[in-house]
Amino acid sequence: MASRSAKRIVCLPGDGIGPEVMAVAQRVMHVLAPELELEDHPFGAAAIRASGDPLPAETLEACRAADAVLKAPIGDPEFDAADVRPEQGMLRLRKELDVYANLRPASRGPVDLLIVRELVGGLYFGARGVRDDGTVFDTCEYHPSQVERIARRAFELARSRRGRLTSVDKANVLDTSRLWRRVVHEVAGDYPDVEVADMLVDNAAMQLASAPEQFDVIVTENMFGDILSDLAAAMTGGLGLAPSASLGDRGPGVFEPVHGSAPDIAGHGIANPAAMLRSVALMLDLALDRPDEAAALERAVEAALRDAPTPDLGGNATTAQFADVVLAALVA
Ligand code: NAD
Repeated sequence: MASRSAKRIVCLPGDGIGPEVMAVAQRVMHVLAPELELEDHPFGAAAIRASGDPLPAETLEACRAADAVLKAPIGDPEFDAADVRPEQGMLRLRKELDVYANLRPASRGPVDLLIVRELVGGLYFGARGVRDDGTVFDTCEYHPSQVERIARRAFELARSRRGRLTSVDKANVLDTSRLWRRVVHEVAGDYPDVEVADMLVDNAAMQLASAPEQFDVIVTENMFGDILSDLAAAMTGGLGLAPSASLGDRGPGVFEPVHGSAPDIAGHGIANPAAMLRSVALMLDLALDRPDEAAALERAVEAALRDAPTPDLGGNATTAQFADVVLAALVA
């Protein structure tokens, strides 16, 4: 087995504010876990500019061989209408590493919930195309085995928390949702200690906006999870605070903020690095078995959110000033 000192982290600095928040993450890791080997690789729009491919073969190989992948956001308006887009690289990376379980915790005050989003199936990966008459289509597809493995993961997580699981679907309209509901209830038989309830996605959005404290673990398919997790982030302080972990059954996980590359503030030095730092904390805890360092980093981020809030939180601290407070709290 690899020794603790040999852990290799592939860092994907990405686009827009990506390199700005990645620089903070690396400063912090140098202090918190100096023996980690950090390697930067091109990904996203930066990689398209360099090589024409958002996920170059060398980057993918490095990710496969790593102990964990730390990813900053990608995306650039320049490529929005292009044939080759940064987001294609992101979907391919998830598929290639088979990181099917996307964990998005959200907490503030009485709210403490975890969204478990299926990440490598559904509408984002189904057949797509253009018919002769000009109709464009994307299809939502799920195999029962894809639903079963994400359901099991969610039940396990619910069991380790408050024992309540809400499965979100659109079973009154969609066949894939009826499959989803059937499989979730089959898996539920193995977890009699977890209380499971179904909720339609439109109601789930309303409940998240009006009474988010009722939820413990929410499990849902790819697109519903994409949308609901941004809503959960907004309910608990904003996109700049929300981290995520994408895990498979083996191989490296991908740890990244929920937010995008924020082209509107890129280069201004005011990006909030909290979501990126919380993603580092998830990586320390879930991939590197270092819960103590993860907890210390969580506390340091709390201190910076209190003492040096960035403009998205109503403060006027720069990214660098936020980072200074985090580092001072860690050293103290
Ligand atoms: P976004 O998350 O980049 O920005 C939405 C709003 O939130 C903007 O006003 C932005 O300034 C603000 N914001 C986001 N993160 C912030 C932070 N850390 N600190 C302060 N403010 C922050 O979403 P968008 O504008 O819809 O997308 C921009 C690009 O990002 C697009 O190309 C999109 O495809 C891409 N994107 C990438 C990912 C990813 O890499 N995982 C996720 C979402 C969007």
